[in-house]
Amino acid sequence: MQILHVSAECYPAAKAGGLGDVVGALPKYLNKAGHNAAVIIPGYRSKWIVSQQFAHAYSGLVRIADLYVPFHVNRHVGESLGFRLFIVDVPGLFDREGVYADTNGNGYSDETERYLVFQQAVLHFIKQLEIKPDVLHCHDHHTGLIPFMVKHCPEYRELSGIATVFTIHNGEYHGSFSWNRANLLPWYDSDANGLLEWAGRINPLACGIKTCWALTTVSPGYLMELMQSSNGLEWLLRNELSKASGIINGIDAEVWDPSTDPFLKYRLGDDIADYKEANKQGLSEEFQFRHDLPLITFIGRLVMEKGADLLPEAIAKFLFEGGQASFVVLGTGEPSLKDAFLRMKEQFVSYFDTSISYNEKLSHQLYAGSDFLVMPSRVEPCGLNQLYAFRYGTVPVVRSTGGLADTVKDITQGGNGLRFDQFSVDALSSSFHRAATLYHDKQLLGGLRENIMQLDFSWETAAGKYINIYQSLID
Ligand code: ADP
Repeated sequence: MQILHVSAECYPAAKAGGLGDVVGALPKYLNKAGHNAAVIIPGYRSKWIVSQQFAHAYSGLVRIADLYVPFHVNRHVGESLGFRLFIVDVPGLFDREGVYADTNGNGYSDETERYLVFQQAVLHFIKQLEIKPDVLHCHDHHTGLIPFMVKHCPEYRELSGIATVFTIHNGEYHGSFSWNRANLLPWYDSDANGLLEWAGRINPLACGIKTCWALTTVSPGYLMELMQSSNGLEWLLRNELSKASGIINGIDAEVWDPSTDPFLKYRLGDDIADYKEANKQGLSEEFQFRHDLPLITFIGRLVMEKGADLLPEAIAKFLFEGGQASFVVLGTGEPSLKDAFLRMKEQFVSYFDTSISYNEKLSHQLYAGSDFLVMPSRVEPCGLNQLYAFRYGTVPVVRSTGGLADTVKDITQGGNGLRFDQFSVDALSSSFHRAATLYHDKQLLGGLRENIMQLDFSWETAAGKYINIYQSLID
């Protein structure tokens, strides 16, 4: 099968979170399974894209309101990715370094125009291909209008026989915009207005859910949760359940391998304890913390969704109660949280440190050198961090929600991590106490590390499930 993934992110070209990891890995594993998968993303000016060679593949124009916007599709030269990568250059819209925000963290205000042009440029590109994809796999709201456009826009209807799969990686963001801006859309059958709309606005996420041939979410637990709570889309998800399935993400075992990881100074050899200790020591070049205490780390977006707002109070409570652990936070996000963490760095010297940055290399070093990884998420579609933590021998401490509940079981139930249910300061700080106790039981911790490092969350299994879906649509 020929599968084209259409996405806003793809590691290593452009990544802001888990979407990038998934789209950078799944196509590789589809190809390994004998299919022909490619990826197309916008041509940001990311460091990786700027450093690579691309060959021109196609140029065209997209109409948006009364403007014709020129675009160029370029193909990545080389075999290093394990799949063909195309980027869509749109001067003025995507020639910026950040994916969704500038270097100060301010989100771009022209998101609607950017992704409307991108989606249509992708369709123009496909129209002129001699061999068309069998499946268009669209990811998140940035590409949610594609299944609609191929069905209901005369300009793209010749592609309506291509199966469309829509995956929700993050249902918090809908990309919705006002009907006053409907003139930005390509011409479409007015009978189809209802497919674009949700709650009085044009809603690309809802439109993708309604019009795709098959819908997936990145874990079965998240699919269930979206039907209970998804910013107003609950009823829609219940209605479309018959074409939906939840598939847990895999991890790219080639990128995330502690025995070969080029970002690590101390790679995994025969002795897990030595590897962990050396990497923990290595972290002192970047952070100040007590080496004799357990190191509990948070890596991720500093936003409510991830429960990052619970950390300052829970850490303070734990430390004031005499809890013995050090903490490190790596992340970017809401300014009030950044300030809170920077204040804690002054307040709890040697017990708390932070890097307010997006730093891929440091994230790998933290997965390797930490004892515990905390994820107090309010919502977690799948969560990849806990899977990376397993692979690097770091015990996850997670709130039972979405993909975290699907992948982490508490050690009291013979599981692989520490879990808490309530979204509260008390529940989180109690988990820190449990982690501190576990840390000193060297036998239990050693056995647990050995077990979690052998867990299999490889992409082969997940890719097989996607292949079954593609096949069922084509048949
Ligand atoms: P999200 O909801 O943000 O997509 P996931 O758990 O699915 O969450 O994926 C997060 C990915 O982003 C992981 O690869 C994680 O290591 C990475 N990540 C998040 N924040 C940072 C950061 N500040 N620096 C480096 N990597 C980060």
